[in-house]
Amino acid sequence: KDTIDQIAAGEVVERPASIVKELIENAIDAAASAVTVEIREGGISFIRITDNGSGIPKDQVRLAFCRHATSKIRSAADLFDISSLGFRGEALSSIAAVAQVELITKISEDLTGIRYVIEGGEERSFEEIGAPNGTTFLIRNLFYNTPARAKFLKSALGESNAVSAYVEQMALSNPGISFKYMVNGQTKLHTSGSLNIKELVYHIYGREITKELIEIDSSSDLMEVHGFLGRPAISRGNRNFEHCYVNGRYVKSKLLSKAIEEGYQGFMMQHKYPFTLIYINMDKSKVDVNVHPAKMELRFSNQEEIFNQLVKMIAETLKGREGI
Ligand code: ADP
Ligand code: MG
Repeated sequence: KDTIDQIAAGEVVERPASIVKELIENAIDAAASAVTVEIREGGISFIRITDNGSGIPKDQVRLAFCRHATSKIRSAADLFDISSLGFRGEALSSIAAVAQVELITKISEDLTGIRYVIEGGEERSFEEIGAPNGTTFLIRNLFYNTPARAKFLKSALGESNAVSAYVEQMALSNPGISFKYMVNGQTKLHTSGSLNIKELVYHIYGREITKELIEIDSSSDLMEVHGFLGRPAISRGNRNFEHCYVNGRYVKSKLLSKAIEEGYQGFMMQHKYPFTLIYINMDKSKVDVNVHPAKMELRFSNQEEIFNQLVKMIAETLKGREGI
């Protein structure tokens, strides 16, 4: 069982950033309005994620760490209308298989919470304690029991950069949630959760990008598109600044990237990549978000239409601006 869990864990947990991703998604699924993420040594030795969400009921704490245990799907019909970020029930069991995990959680209906410790898939402790509403996960010593996997980790700085990039994405894709992010005891990011996207961009990317943003706000029968486009004059060397969110989820999509770049064509001096922060909302039945286990690559049922419409929306928004 240990081995199977460790192999399964390999698909979910590659590095600290994957743990942070899964735990932030769980916090969002639990309707948290504030999430604090803290890492030390790139998250290899220490990750703490605290949320003020629903908490986990006492009798479900152990269950949450069983593989394929999810509270988010109750019937086959739910599979066709997934609005939660997680639903496979693999994250907690996978993380617990390859690290030392401590969980403190309390639901608002209870007076006390639970502290649960599980290491390498083995339960170490389950006790009642006083705790605030919500959930805290502490993840220590990733891959302590699978040294071969630890070798694939980058330096603490490399891992820390990957976590930072991810936390920034999550902050940008969830402007209504306050994110606090600390690295080695220093606060790196603190967003207000006030839904102000420009303020978010300012916090994350600084003044240079923020003052030049062009607002996009377009819709068609297929989708609503809003957000900000960077000035074509300030182009980037790679696609990392083409931020795109579909139905609240950060995505990497070649189709959308190409559409963005084509929309900018004719406005940009050279063939480079723009800064964008585009929020696309479309009918859930038209997006398949579960192609890749990392859930970043999307598949659309009507690619061409989406592509053409997005190109047009971007080009028209840029055209409407003076002096670009
Ligand atoms: P999934 O998210 O796919 O359901 P996970 O392994 O990530 O599976 O989590 C298992 C279960 O643990 C979730 O379905 C949820 O019920 C519970 N859970 C995990 N994290 C939290 C959290 N931060 N707040 C409340 N419940 C949580
Ligand atoms: Mg999950």
